Amino acid sequence: MCRRSAPNDQPLDRGIVWRLCEELEPLVAQLEAETNQQFSVVRVREKRGGLRVYVNQGTDAICERIQAAEEESFLVCEICGEPGSRRNNRWVRVRCPEHGEE
Ligand SMILES: [Zn+2]
Repeated sequence: MCRRSAPNDQPLDRGIVWRLCEELEPLVAQLEAETNQQFSVVRVREKRGGLRVYVNQGTDAICERIQAAEEESFLVCEICGEPGSRRNNRWVRVRCPEHGEE
């Protein structure tokens, strides 16, 4: 479900999003079994240098994982996943030293 929902044409925190999807999979399976409703990621976007993940339903455990990924996204480069910091040139972006000027 995450592969379908994640944008394929941009490298938006891909490592974090993939890892998040793997972490969520067992939690989602449990949630879907309990609610009989399909879980879906409504939207994945970048907001002020960080990741934002919107879902149609979630448990506390799911929300915790998503929040952790969102917080982690402020610390890694959006292009390569290396440690980075927020940079304010035109937009707020998280970039490592190598990708800082892009
Ligand atoms: Zn980088």
